[in-house]
Amino acid sequence: MRVLIIEDEAPLARSVARALREESSYAVDIALNGEDGLHLALTEPYDLVLLDLQLPKLDGLRVLREVRARGSRIPVLILTARDLKSDVVSGLDLGADDYLTKPFDILELLARCRALIRRGYDRPDPILRCGAIEIDTRARSVRVSGKRVELSAMEYRLLEYLALREGELVTREEIETRLYGQDALHDSNVVEVHISNLRKRLGPEVAHSALRTVRGQGYMLGGDAE
Ligand code: CA
Repeated sequence: MRVLIIEDEAPLARSVARALREESSYAVDIALNGEDGLHLALTEPYDLVLLDLQLPKLDGLRVLREVRARGSRIPVLILTARDLKSDVVSGLDLGADDYLTKPFDILELLARCRALIRRGYDRPDPILRCGAIEIDTRARSVRVSGKRVELSAMEYRLLEYLALREGELVTREEIETRLYGQDALHDSNVVEVHISNLRKRLGPEVAHSALRTVRGQGYMLGGDAE
């Protein structure tokens, strides 16, 4: 999952980014002004945007209006220091999905982020089930046939993304851009290595049947075998 933070208070942006990376295994990019944020939101694939309202160069509400005017349905959570209800109302009316008033509790922010991302994939249940694989997105724990499986942060990130897109072909490029963000290593082997490690951890019963390679195209978790 990849999240964009548009926030001009750099220390706050950095601490939220750290929490999202460490606690939720997301790839995170930061834009420190509205103009850069809008550009990234329109050109890079994100699963969620955290949007401050008072921003230099381009106000948060204008960023939001522009994102929605371009037809983007990406979930947007407004972070606002203003206790002006009118801004929150304007934001929701412009198509924001949720909001938090600063200062906020980081655990509450993480929970709202998880919910918005899942909803974006039409998977409101925090437990993702795919055949014998069960993923608890709150605890980031994975079970295969009821047995706990330990995954690295990157393996978990990859599995959760494939599970949210269960039954769909996911290309290598999509995995790279969604899971690595701006620090993407453009080494096509990286994805294959993580897939291979993930299969080892999932165990032989499900490794190739549940997580299939679609030759020359990408990968698919679940779905009917051809
Ligand atoms: Ca601000």
